[in-house]
Amino acid sequence: KANRKFHPADTVVDVGGHKIGGGHFTVMAGPCSVESAEQITEVARRVKASGAGLVRGGAFKPRTSPYSFQGMRAEGLTLLRKARQATGLPIVTEIMNTEHIGLFEDVDMIQVGARNMQNFELLKELGKLKTPILLKRGLSNTLEEFLMSAEYIMAGGNENVVLCERGIRTFETSMRNTLDISAIPMLKAKSHLPVVVDPSHAAGIAWMVEPLAMAAVAAGADGLMVEVHNDPPHAKSDGAQSLTPDQFDGLMEKVRGAVSFF
Ligand code: PEP
Ligand code: MN
Repeated sequence: KANRKFHPADTVVDVGGHKIGGGHFTVMAGPCSVESAEQITEVARRVKASGAGLVRGGAFKPRTSPYSFQGMRAEGLTLLRKARQATGLPIVTEIMNTEHIGLFEDVDMIQVGARNMQNFELLKELGKLKTPILLKRGLSNTLEEFLMSAEYIMAGGNENVVLCERGIRTFETSMRNTLDISAIPMLKAKSHLPVVVDPSHAAGIAWMVEPLAMAAVAAGADGLMVEVHNDPPHAKSDGAQSLTPDQFDGLMEKVRGAVSFF
């Protein structure tokens, strides 16, 4: 179902009235984690003013260490709803297991994080929904495996899948991950699904987000996911890679100049 051979036209995914793919460029932006009502609403307002189409924020966080901030969980989802109400922006947030699906009922777009790309039981359950899914590429997964995970969701009847390249594990250690730029044209050749790029988790360093974002645009991405925080040095997760709202505004100016179909 994800194969372009059997579905030549680009798929356009509608997220709360906001279109992604097929000539609709979309930027999703917001903090790594939802931390407070003020934080998420303020960041949502700022990224909307800069032209973001969706606000992101993690409520359930997959952290490497069990001692790191694990997210505000259900309360974080409540605060995301408030930010949506304040700005009108649809929300995208990560789910970690099937037991939480009920909590995500009114979430506009559900994110499957890199660590869960091959959580097949989760993918099957998400296939039963109509909610658009943002599927992130696993840390060490091939493009074939990535597309098979999209297939799991689509096989269940949910064809609203957006693919997200977010950097992969390589021998290089100076960046958090290595952004696989070649994944963009290859995924778009193999599949009709929209492809967005997350330069924030690829780089792990705020100053590198802009050049990687521009490279993604040049390579034909249908959108970007960018981490933005109102106070990056004090962020509870991923502060080092988070842009300030002002930096994000500068990035959006450049992106608008480069995307012919924004
Ligand atoms: C995130 O989007 O905050 C995140 C955890 O991303 P990834 O799953 O790509 O590491
Ligand atoms: Mn993050």
